[in-house]
Amino acid sequence: MSASGAAEQRAALAEGCRPGCGACCIAPSIHSPIPGMPEGKPAGVRCVQLDDGNLCRLFGDPSRPALCARFGFDEALCGSHREEALERIAALELATR
Ligand code: SF4
Ligand code: SF4
Repeated sequence: MSASGAAEQRAALAEGCRPGCGACCIAPSIHSPIPGMPEGKPAGVRCVQLDDGNLCRLFGDPSRPALCARFGFDEALCGSHREEALERIAALELATR
């Protein structure tokens, strides 16, 4: 990870993001290209850039989709644990289809 990637990850943690959650990289659909997923990804599909520790491989990399950088910790969506986040984001995805 680059220095800016580390800074970005520290900022996310400071906001309340749980390291190793990764729910926002699985539950929502992403309609912009992701390296390795040129069409983006459907809802419920794991992003190929999510590593085994559920951290983004592209933190701080210019190829990381701008959309990903905009998704910050939101207690209403992220809940208090990973399963809650997966359920809430999936529900939002269905409601906004
Ligand atoms: S769903 Fe929320 S807590 Fe989980 S990784 Fe994304 S921003 Fe962080
Ligand atoms: S590129 Fe990174 S932040 Fe964006 S969905 Fe994939 S793993 Fe998550």
